[in-house]
Amino acid sequence: MPIKPSAQTYRCPACNWSKTVVPNGDALIPGDISSACPKCGHKQLESKKASAILEAFTSLIDVIRH
Ligand SMILES: [Zn+2]
Repeated sequence: MPIKPSAQTYRCPACNWSKTVVPNGDALIPGDISSACPKCGHKQLESKKASAILEAFTSLIDVIRH
């Protein structure tokens, strides 16, 4: 059984934008999200492992969307 990749939460310290990304399969996190804020263009986003609850919630949203 493959190891499930962990969700990452990206946060912009400049405008407080944040997004939790759950990698599924071999899909990579889009470069624009991991390198710059899509809202204000700030280049140094904070990234951290999402909490288990947030990860489960985001996965659920992802399922509903598909
Ligand atoms: Zn920003």
